[in-house]
Amino acid sequence: MSFDVSNCPRCGRLFRKVRQNVCPSCVKEIDQEYEKVYKFMRKKENRSCNVHDLSEATGVSINQITMFILEGRLSIENNPNMSYPCRSCGGPIRSGSICEKCAGNLKKIASYMKEDEQKRQEEAERRKREQSALYRSGHNE
Ligand SMILES: [Zn+2]
Ligand SMILES: [Zn+2]
Repeated sequence: MSFDVSNCPRCGRLFRKVRQNVCPSCVKEIDQEYEKVYKFMRKKENRSCNVHDLSEATGVSINQITMFILEGRLSIENNPNMSYPCRSCGGPIRSGSICEKCAGNLKKIASYMKEDEQKRQEEAERRKREQSALYRSGHNE
């Protein structure tokens, strides 16, 4: 029987990995943090808070709040000033994991890479043709 024991990435304690990738005590803590964040955000007077206000008021890190949002656990639909940092540039976003600008850049890079690949293939084809033409002309002589 093998035990999948690993260090909890959150607190460093050793624990047996079952389903979660953090230890059971951290799971509990994260749940409590979620509760705090959720309750704070739901209050009418806190609707206009931003992620910094929220983090300060609840003591929950912006990173963790971002995680809740990305996991789909926390909705920011009713909190117009709520945003979290784009994973690429750190700019504020309200959906996805990167901002529109970075998504556009990624698309551009992807299309450049595709063009590059096409050029490389064409080049390889051309070389092959040249080589076979050389080969043929060499034999004709
Ligand atoms: Zn832990
Ligand atoms: Zn960005």
